[in-house]
Amino acid sequence: MMRRTAPIFSVATVKNLIDGKFTESKATKFYDVINPATGSVIAKCPQSTPEEMRAAVENSAAAQVAWRNTSVGNRVRVMLKYQQLIRENSKQIAEILTEEQGKTLGDAEGDLFRGLEVVEHTCSMGTLIMGETVENVSAHMDTYSYRQPLGVTAGICPFNFPAMIPLWMFPVAITAGNAMLLKPSEKVPLTSMKLAELALQAGVPAGIVNVIHGGHDAVNFICDAPEIRAISFVGGNAAGEYIHARGTKNGKRVQANLGAKNHGVIMPDADKDHALNSLIGSSIGACGQRCMALSTAVFVGDAKKWIPELAERASKLRPGPGNKNSDFGPMITKEARDRAIRLITESEKLGAKVLVDGRNVTVPEHPNGNWIGASVVTDVTTEMPCYKEEIFGPALVVLTVDTLDDAINMINKNPYGNGTSIFTSSGIAARKFQHDVDAGQVGINVPIPVPLPYFSFTGSRASIRGDINFYGKQGVQFYTQVKTISSNWNPKFKNTGATVNMPILG
Ligand code: NAD
Repeated sequence: MMRRTAPIFSVATVKNLIDGKFTESKATKFYDVINPATGSVIAKCPQSTPEEMRAAVENSAAAQVAWRNTSVGNRVRVMLKYQQLIRENSKQIAEILTEEQGKTLGDAEGDLFRGLEVVEHTCSMGTLIMGETVENVSAHMDTYSYRQPLGVTAGICPFNFPAMIPLWMFPVAITAGNAMLLKPSEKVPLTSMKLAELALQAGVPAGIVNVIHGGHDAVNFICDAPEIRAISFVGGNAAGEYIHARGTKNGKRVQANLGAKNHGVIMPDADKDHALNSLIGSSIGACGQRCMALSTAVFVGDAKKWIPELAERASKLRPGPGNKNSDFGPMITKEARDRAIRLITESEKLGAKVLVDGRNVTVPEHPNGNWIGASVVTDVTTEMPCYKEEIFGPALVVLTVDTLDDAINMINKNPYGNGTSIFTSSGIAARKFQHDVDAGQVGINVPIPVPLPYFSFTGSRASIRGDINFYGKQGVQFYTQVKTISSNWNPKFKNTGATVNMPILG
């Protein structure tokens, strides 16, 4: 009689990708991948077994030896093909993304596009990976450095950008000559699998991108596997601080981008329409589930007279299925929705006013979706839970202050330092803000100031662990180490006997 090693489900299980083959996991533990707009289970994501994870990392280590010796030009040619395949398949990828994550199709295409830009940037790897040279450090001596790949790297991803964040990681790592073991979020693994499939089609060799799945056990495996030299993590603080501590304790490089509480400062001299539209789009779009959402509005001085208009405009946005004509989609889980509602309700009890109340909003044709409507919470103080915690839902928290200095002080006292924006027509106020505020990303009249890949995505204080940032030149630094070579090509070495002192060069 045939023995079944894995349960049979009515929906597909997500495969591991090991050595260029998509294989069924022998897992006994599975996570439901749920369409958050309908509540239906669309796939089962395995907790890859210890044997599978070991096979994946050993295969990555073996495959990287030849890949490291593949010319940088040929590695780039694979990425040139990859960016083309991503473009050709962008509609299909966006549909997969919307089904598992919930965001609207237009926003899903934006999610993919911002990752595609990183892939495009890796096509400059020939110059990005250049070392440095100095001729004549001494007579007949030159010193030069190379940036060499580390070997096997790993990426651990969050649920909120199922395309962009995996694409922040493996294209940079592998074009620099590494292999990457990717662990997608167990809530949204299907977009990653499609991206991995296209990477193989583009010519990424077997083993250079392997994908394993799961939660805590997969993370522990990545933190502990001796072959893995560097870990890229994006997600919340609990997981990120744990991974940073465990990974660095094991001697690995860890870059970790964490949670956020981003303030948007509105000066009385701002362009009113632009400022209000920016705040609403940034905080409510994607159901507030963006790490760069301006989830906290700080109105300075007379700008507070615009708050009723802000509320009136925000109240017009409607949640709904991402593949219909909705303004924004559902929350990722019922627990996340309930938590957002709880933070608003607890703050209301402490004196906040819920000017726009999305707590009881439903979408009748999809009663099992994780719905919450746009919310605007005013009269908030810095002591309230809706200010102190990252809500990660479609709620704009509103505070007022007297001066720009007060706003900057408030921002700099908040534990998080991911991003912030000011809305003003004063160059003097903008210059002061950009100089004095302590945040990784700063916008001036920009709703979501995420830097393009020629720069790097950074963070400050509790929003980051590690010291080398994602993508851009720093991304290449993270996935490479420097080897410095000093060479002496003296045409005629003199026999001066052994020199026992450190040489004084000249
Ligand atoms: P999360 O921390 O719950 O999950 C991220 C990853 O960590 C997943 O792969 C998950 O499997 C793993 N994980 C979760 N809990 C774990 C635990 N206890 N131990 C070990 N591993 C664990 O994050 P999320 O909910 O998927 O994503 C939302 C968070 O990510 C928000 O806080 C958001 O601000 C943050 N984020 C930050 C950035 C940034 O660049 N700063 C970008 C996107 C998202």
